[in-house]
Amino acid sequence: MPIYEYECKKCKKYFEVWQKITEEPLKICKECGGELLKLISESSFILKGTGWYVTDYAKKEKDKKDKNSKEKDKDIASEKA
Ligand SMILES: [Zn+2]
Repeated sequence: MPIYEYECKKCKKYFEVWQKITEEPLKICKECGGELLKLISESSFILKGTGWYVTDYAKKEKDKKDKNSKEKDKDIASEKA
């Protein structure tokens, strides 16, 4: 079962959700009701190798992820504390 990653466009909260491939993607942030952006999980989709994700969209998502990685690490750390 793949892990889907989402980021809220509004509050920037990051979610990891285990979902069946047939399940509807999440669209609404549980925290603030904002719109969720679906990220592509590197651990699940890249292994499938169908190539559909190799798009400008995916590249942009990766860039965004790299830029935000410091913020995300902080968020995750504070949640676990
Ligand atoms: Zn939110």
